[in-house]
Amino acid sequence: MSYADFYQQSIQQPEAFWDREASLIDWHKPYTKVLDASRPPFAKWFVDGETNLCYNAVDRWLATQADKPALIAISTETNSEKTYSFADLHREVQRMAASMSALGVKQGDRVLIYMPMVAEAAFAMLACARIGAVHSVVFGGFASKSLATRIDDAKPVLIISADAGMRGGKAVPYKPLLDEAINLAEFKPAKVLIINRGLEAMKLVAGRDVDYASLRALHLDAQVPVTWLESNAMSYVLYTSGTTGKPKGVQRDVGGYAVALASSMKQIFCGNPGETYFATSDIGWVVGHSYIVYGPLIAGMATIMYEGTPIRPDAGIWWSIVEKYKVTRMFSAPTAIRVLKKHPAELMKNYDLSSLKALYLAGEPLDETTSSWISNELGVPIIDNYWQTETGWPIMSVARGVENTATRLGSPGIAMYGYNISIINEANGLECAPNEKGVVAIKGPLPPGCMQTVYGDDQRFVQTYWSNFAHDQLYSTFDWGIKDADGYYFILGRTDDVINVAGHRLGTREIEESISSHAQVSEVAVVGVEDKLKGQVAVAFVILRNPDLATTADSKRALEVEVMAVVDKQLGAVARPSRVHFVTMLPKTRSGKLLRRSIQAICEGRDAGDLTTIEDPTSLQQIMAALAQ
Ligand code: AMP
Repeated sequence: MSYADFYQQSIQQPEAFWDREASLIDWHKPYTKVLDASRPPFAKWFVDGETNLCYNAVDRWLATQADKPALIAISTETNSEKTYSFADLHREVQRMAASMSALGVKQGDRVLIYMPMVAEAAFAMLACARIGAVHSVVFGGFASKSLATRIDDAKPVLIISADAGMRGGKAVPYKPLLDEAINLAEFKPAKVLIINRGLEAMKLVAGRDVDYASLRALHLDAQVPVTWLESNAMSYVLYTSGTTGKPKGVQRDVGGYAVALASSMKQIFCGNPGETYFATSDIGWVVGHSYIVYGPLIAGMATIMYEGTPIRPDAGIWWSIVEKYKVTRMFSAPTAIRVLKKHPAELMKNYDLSSLKALYLAGEPLDETTSSWISNELGVPIIDNYWQTETGWPIMSVARGVENTATRLGSPGIAMYGYNISIINEANGLECAPNEKGVVAIKGPLPPGCMQTVYGDDQRFVQTYWSNFAHDQLYSTFDWGIKDADGYYFILGRTDDVINVAGHRLGTREIEESISSHAQVSEVAVVGVEDKLKGQVAVAFVILRNPDLATTADSKRALEVEVMAVVDKQLGAVARPSRVHFVTMLPKTRSGKLLRRSIQAICEGRDAGDLTTIEDPTSLQQIMAALAQ
C-alpha cells in the first residue's frame, strides 16, 4: 500500500484503520468499539477492551525471547553497564511492584517518580503500569518548586527517588531537593522510596522514607499478576509547560497509547524484536516515556537507558555504544548533534556503525546545516519528527515502514497517519493556502495515544487546546507552520509563551514567576532568544524595586548571579536564563500588556514590529542599551 492510501484510510475510515493497528498489541479482553467520539473533543479508543502496558512491554516477550536483552542501563558517570533480559526485567518489575504495594499503592493511585537515568526508574514506571497505578515522572533537572507544584497537582501517595544523579563527573543531589519540595508542597505523600546509589550522604525521614534495597530484599520472589485495565484507564500524567505559570498534567490512557506506540514503532521507527534501540532523551520527557521505556519494549526491542553526556569521556561515546550493542535505530535531539559537531568527526570514524539504519531527531527545529552534517558523517537517513508531550508520538515525519518517502531538508516531514492536520490563518480561522503561514491545528478526534485530558481539569483541556479557532473540533498545537505544495510541513516556532531550550520545553511565565520571588525584583519579562547551539535560550529583563542597586557593572553582575541562583534553586538549572539585564521600564501596550515579541525581536536583531500601541517607545531603547552593554 502506498503511504498516501495508508494515510487516507486512517483519516476516512479511522475505525477500520486502528482496528488493524490494534492487533499489534495483546488484549486480555477484546474491545467492543474502536472509537467513541460521542463527547467531543474527548475521544475514547478501544472501548471495553482490557490490556496492560507492562504486559505488552515485558510479559508477552517471555515466551519467545526471555533471555534476550530488554533493558541496557549504561552510566558513563558511574562507569557501570548492566543488561537486563526480558526475564530479568520481569523479575525486577515484580519486585518493584510488590514493594510499592507493600507501601500501600493501589490501582489508580498516583506515584511520582523523580529519578536519574537508572534502571530502577524504568522498573518503577513499568511496575506502576503493571498494577494500574498512575505514574508521574518529573524530570530530574527540575528543582524543588517545580517539583512541589507537581506534587500538589498529582497528589501522589508515594514518591520514588534516589540519593543523587551524576552529570559531568559530579554528583547531582536529588534527595535534599525532594525534601524541600515536600516541605513546600501542601500535599504530603505518605511514603518516599529511595534508591540509594551511594553517591551522596542523605538523611532519611523516619516513618516516611524507605530504603529500596532493604524492601526489595523482602520481595525477591514476588509474583505480581498483571492488573487488566480498561483501555481508557489512566496510565500516566506528565507535566508540561504552557502559557500560564501552572504546568499542565498531560493525561494518557492505556490501550490507545499501547497501540499508538506499537504502530509507530513499526511504521515510523521500523523496529524489530531482537534489535536494539537507543534514545538519548530522559525519562522525564515524553520521548523517554514513549521511546526509551514503552515503545521499544512493546516492539520486543532492547532499549538503552543512558546516564551521562554525549561528550564524556569523549564525543565518541554514543557511537561506541552503537557499535557495542548493534543499535539499529537511534533517537536524539538536534542540540545534541550540534554539540557533537563541535568535536572532531574522527571520533565517529573509530567505530563500526554498520548496524545503524537511521537516526531520528525531534524536540526542536532541525536546521539544515546540522542535518546535512550528521547525515554525511553517519551515512544513514536522518529522520526529523515533530510532535509534543500532548500527542505522545509523531504528528509529522516519514513512515518508512509503509513507504520509502523522501525527506526534505528543513522539514519534519508529512502528516503522519491518524493526524488530520490543517494550517489555520489565525485572523480569519480559515485554512491557509500552500506556503502560507498559519497555526498548526489538528482536526478531532485525535488519534490513539494522544492526551485524554488535562489531569483533573477537563475544562482546561477544552479551553486551552480546543477553543482557539471558530471551528470547535480543531486542536491547536501552538506552533506556527506552513505546508508546501507537496504536503511537506515546516515548523516556524511557538505561538504562545513557551520556549524551547536545547529541546526542553519551558514556560517563560514560570521563569518570570520564579524571578519575581527575588526580594529586589519589581517586574520581569523573560523571552526566548535564538541561540546557535541550544536553538533558544531564556533572557530576562528585570526592573528592580531600587534601581540604584544596579548602577555599576559589578553590582549588575552580582545581582544577575543572584537572580540566576533563584531560578536554579526553584526551577532547576535547565530553566536558568542565559542573561539577566536590568532596565527601569518594560515595553508594554497602553493597556499594560507586555510586548514580548518586540523584546524578542530586538534581542535577535530584528525589527520590533508593529509598535502603534506601545505606551512608551523609550522602553525599547532601554532594552537595546542593556543588550549593548
Ligand atoms: P515537548 O512537548 O516538550 O515535546 O515540546 C513540543 C514542542 O517542541 C512542539 O510544540 C514544537 O514547538 C517543538 N518541536 C518538537 N519537535 C519538533 C521538530 N521536529 N521540529 C520543530 N519543532 C519541534
